[in-house]
Amino acid sequence: MALDPWGSSTVDDYRKLFEEFGIEAFDDVLPRVPSPHYLMRRGVIFGHRDYRSVAEAMRNDEPFAALSGFMPTGDPHIGHKLVFDELIWHQQRGGEAYGLIADLEAHAARGLSWDEIDEHTESYLLSLIALGFDPEAGTLYRQSSNRAVQDLAFELGTKANFSELGAIYDFDGETDVSYMQSVLTQMADILYPQLEEPKPTVIPVGPDQDPHVRLARDLAGRMRYFGVTEAYASFELDDAERELVAVAYESLADDVSDPEADVRCTDAAEWLRSERPPSEALESAIETLEAGGKEPLRPRVRFLDRNATDEAFEGLIEAIKGEKRVYEAHVDSFDLDREAAEELAREVELEHGGYGFLPPSSIYHRFMTGLTGGKMSSSVPASHISLLDDPEDGYDKVKSATTGGRETAEEQRELGGEADECPVYELYAYLLSGDDDEFATEVYDECVGGERLCGGCKEQAAELMAEFLEEHQEKREEARELLDGLDIELESARR
Ligand code: SF4
Repeated sequence: MALDPWGSSTVDDYRKLFEEFGIEAFDDVLPRVPSPHYLMRRGVIFGHRDYRSVAEAMRNDEPFAALSGFMPTGDPHIGHKLVFDELIWHQQRGGEAYGLIADLEAHAARGLSWDEIDEHTESYLLSLIALGFDPEAGTLYRQSSNRAVQDLAFELGTKANFSELGAIYDFDGETDVSYMQSVLTQMADILYPQLEEPKPTVIPVGPDQDPHVRLARDLAGRMRYFGVTEAYASFELDDAERELVAVAYESLADDVSDPEADVRCTDAAEWLRSERPPSEALESAIETLEAGGKEPLRPRVRFLDRNATDEAFEGLIEAIKGEKRVYEAHVDSFDLDREAAEELAREVELEHGGYGFLPPSSIYHRFMTGLTGGKMSSSVPASHISLLDDPEDGYDKVKSATTGGRETAEEQRELGGEADECPVYELYAYLLSGDDDEFATEVYDECVGGERLCGGCKEQAAELMAEFLEEHQEKREEARELLDGLDIELESARR
C-alpha cells in the first residue's frame, strides 16, 4: 500500500497505516485530550503522530498551534468541513490557528490558472470563517503572498535533495521543478507557526498527507544546530548497536565496584558475544567495542554539531554544566540527563539565531464515503455535498444516496440496517449530529435494531442537511464583511 498525496483518496484499511507507517491509534492519546471534539470521540479522527505534545500543551495552558492547508481546486465540500472544524476547535482551545490556501501547489501540481485559483480561494476562506474560525485571533494566508513561507521553503530546500523527493513522491526526470518546489512550500507551511518560537504544532489532515508530515518532521530535525543522543564511549554507535551496548553495560555494571571505570569496551564485547544471539548489529557492535579496547564505558549524553555556527558551538560548550568532554564536532556531558540536554540544546540554538524546531505533530481523519458509494470525489457532484450547494440540491442528494439498508422493509425490521456501511449514517456521525452524541447513538441503535427504516432516516438527514446548508450560506454572507477587512489578497497579482 502506498500513501499518495496527489492520488485517489481512499484508504481501505486504516490498520495497515499503523503497522506500515507508524501512525499511532488516536484511541491511545484520547484520554489525555481535555474535552475531546466529537470527531475524536466518534473515531472519525483515528490516528496521529506525536499528538501527546499538543494535548499536553493544551492541558498546561502552554503555547501550541494548529495549521492546515487547502488547495483551491474546486468548491469546499463537507469533507473539508472536517478539517475546518478541527482547526477551529484547536483555536477555541487556546491554540494559534493557521489556515492557508495552497495556491502555489494548485498551480504547480494541478495546473490551475490564477483565475481559477482566485475564484476558489475566497470560497474556502468564507466557509472557514463562517464555521467559526476567528481570523483576527488566527492567521489566514495564501502561499503565493507569504514571503516568509517562501524564504523558509528555500532554506529547507538545502536539506532535501532530488533522490529523496523522488523516492517519497515518485518524482522523476519529467517532474516539473515548480511541483517539487511546492513540496518544500508545504514543508515551510507546516513549520511556519514555529518561526517566531518553537511550539507543539498539530497538522490536521487526511492520511494521504502523511508523507508530507513525515518529511516535515525529518526536515525539522535536519535544521537543528545540535543533535542529542546517548552514548557510552568516545565513538559513535547507531541505534541498534547502542541498544546492545546499553544492555551489556547495565548487566556488567552490577558486578563491579566502580562502574564508572571498571567496565571496559572489551568486557562488553565479550559479554555480547556470549550472551546475545548473533545479528548484524551484534557483529558491528562487537567490532567497534573491540577497537575501543580498554576505554571504560560510561553512559553520557552527546551533543552533535549539525548546523551550529562556531559561536553557537562555543556557547554550547560553555553552557554545559558539570563534567564534559569536548571533541571536534561533539561534546559529551556526564551530568545531564537526556531531557535536560534537549532543552539546553534548543536554548543555545535559539540564543544564536537558530529556529529550534520541534517535530510537528499530526492527526488523521477518515475519509467520508461518497453518497453514491465508493469514494467521495470533488469531480463527481452527486458523490459529495458542496458547502455551496443549494439547500434543495443538498436535500435531493441525501434523498438519493445509497444506504446500508436491506432489500425490503420487512427484512430491515428483522435484521436491522448496516449503519457501519451506510453513507447516510456517516453524515449523521460526521456532521448532522454535531456535538450531540446521544442523537448519533440513537440513530445508530435504531438502525441496527431494525426500528429505523431508510426512507424516514434519509428524510430526516436530508432536512438536517438542507438546514445546515442554509445556515452555513447565511453565515458565509456575514463572513464576507470580515474577510474584506482582512489583509489577505483575494485577487492574485500573478498571471
Ligand atoms: Fe442508513 Fe438510516 Fe438506512 Fe440505517 S436506516 S441503513 S442509517 S439510511
